[in-house]
Amino acid sequence: MRKRFMLVVMKSDATQSEIERVLEKIEHLGFCAKTLDGSSRTSIDITDGNGAVDAALFENLAGVAETVRLPSPYKLASSQTLRKKSVIVIGNERIGGDALAIIAGVCAVETREQVFSVAETVKESGAKFFRGGAFKPRTSPYAFQGLGEEGLQILAEVRARFGLHIVTEAMDNEQVELVEKYADIIQIGTRNMQNFSLLKRVGKSKLPILLKRGMSATLEEFLLAAEYIMAEGNENVILCERGIRTFSNHARNTLDLSIVPAVQKLSHLPLIVDPSHGTGKNFMVTPMARASVAAGADGLLIEMHPQPETARSDGAQALLPEQYLELVEQVKAIHKVLSPLSV
Ligand code: PEP
Ligand code: MN
Repeated sequence: MRKRFMLVVMKSDATQSEIERVLEKIEHLGFCAKTLDGSSRTSIDITDGNGAVDAALFENLAGVAETVRLPSPYKLASSQTLRKKSVIVIGNERIGGDALAIIAGVCAVETREQVFSVAETVKESGAKFFRGGAFKPRTSPYAFQGLGEEGLQILAEVRARFGLHIVTEAMDNEQVELVEKYADIIQIGTRNMQNFSLLKRVGKSKLPILLKRGMSATLEEFLLAAEYIMAEGNENVILCERGIRTFSNHARNTLDLSIVPAVQKLSHLPLIVDPSHGTGKNFMVTPMARASVAAGADGLLIEMHPQPETARSDGAQALLPEQYLELVEQVKAIHKVLSPLSV
């Protein structure tokens, strides 16, 4: 059997000379080309050669619609497998599709008062999802590690009182069962994106999974992490871009917004953006939230605190409630421009 490297899909109105240009390029690179005439458009299989084929050499040629790497490293997460976008249903709410999902709340559950006052603001904004960490992945073992089950109980009270769906993190396999009792969506944090046994465990959960991008993960590694969860039977995965490590030091992380159109092209999974951890600075959160929605994100994850200077974690990036309410107004307006029928 021939080894297939890549499929070059031509636009439906590609001309014969544009197709020939692609064929010449393939042969020039030392590969074989096989033309597949579909009913509406032509595709060209690149086969039998040495080394890898660089997609960039074809993507910008006239008449080319897209390139598809073969075999695709991820299957269930790939847009090749499911042509339509996935919509994750949580109660009466949805993540993905036309709606803009806003997941807002606190970084860490600290006290009932802190959480309830922020939940009040989340409810007022019209958002349907409340986030808060009961188990906190902290860089230092001496930093506040979260309230544990007591924090989960406070989150359950928020759901009962405000009708908000709860998003909270499980950091290891042992915590998953407990978190499942309280959460509506389980978050897997950036440091755990390649904790494969944890990914497999939440792949067996009935709850949707919010998977944060590893801080040095490529898009392929990110989608393969989603694949781990899906391969265990849980197809309800929400991707979350939360910034990556780069040489830039003006922000806590570099929020990689070009991943939004890249994911839309390669995967059917919804993608939300977290400009709070993505920037780490209060004054950067709202501009980057606006940019995320403008880029086509399916939602946002936002942290706030009633008194950021007293926060036990991530105070520098926490928005004040009034700043958050303004952010929501602004992003809703941007989203309306992009999907006028959804609001
Ligand atoms: C969080 O969302 O609370 C968190 C710890 O984020 P990350 O895993 O992206 O650092
Ligand atoms: Mn945080």
